[in-house]
Amino acid sequence: MKIWLDGGLQDTESARVSVFDHGLTVGDGIFETVKAVDGRPFALTRHLDRLTRSARGLGLPDPDHDEVRRACAAVLEANPAPLGRLRITYTGGHGPLGSDRGEHGPTLVVALGETTRRPDSTAVITVPWTRNERGALTGLKTTSYAENVVALARARERGASEALFGNTVGQLCEGTGSNVFVVLDGEIHTPPLASGCLAGITRALTAEWTGAEETDLPLDVLERADEVFLTSTLRDVQAVHRVDGRELPGAPGPVTAKAMRIFEERAGHDLDP
Ligand code: PLP
Repeated sequence: MKIWLDGGLQDTESARVSVFDHGLTVGDGIFETVKAVDGRPFALTRHLDRLTRSARGLGLPDPDHDEVRRACAAVLEANPAPLGRLRITYTGGHGPLGSDRGEHGPTLVVALGETTRRPDSTAVITVPWTRNERGALTGLKTTSYAENVVALARARERGASEALFGNTVGQLCEGTGSNVFVVLDGEIHTPPLASGCLAGITRALTAEWTGAEETDLPLDVLERADEVFLTSTLRDVQAVHRVDGRELPGAPGPVTAKAMRIFEERAGHDLDP
């Protein structure tokens, strides 16, 4: 397996990043997960734009899009796979112990992981912890994912594949690695970015292609929504058949099934929408 590090391809086993890299010591880093189908990345332009937004939010230098594109192409060529997940990680680089950045430039790593097609529907739980809709990192895709790791572990313990957060004012926000949509009276709604959720790329495409509305939704909308679904790079559009103790029999329901079809068709036709 080959990864991209320090401007070129390296063997995964021998590639080395400093133990004082700030991505490791203080979580000073950002990332993107990009789906790769038959060796080609999906929606890479949108991912690069979000990477730059995240870098600016953290005060990191703008990533060089040409280099990241070259890195993705090289990694995909070196590791052929029908379906994969490119992981682009960009950190503050190695520096002193503590939070001050050092003189060294950022670290860029591009690796390819395996992935499998997700089932059409899944179970989710809600967690009592809140997303802060007004934090310094809100909306940035940083490597500070420990809260998501804890919430996802809680979901797994309960036989679910995702945990959903509300925000500090009790509104529905997002999952640990996905955005959430609900269907109410045949209309599709998703929380606005002001809820504190990540600007998911699958969320944006799904909203554009299905006409979903951005709506402030109380967390307890999950107790009465006709249908619920998740979106993410690795799930695409995935129906929810259980939220906590509430079953949603027949998931995917008709509106979700249509959204899944639309997404598959449109994404299948355009690799860089
Ligand atoms: N929300 C969070 C916290 C995420 O980490 C992700 C993706 O990893 C998403 C939402 C979905 O975003 P995307 O559709 O761009 O994968």
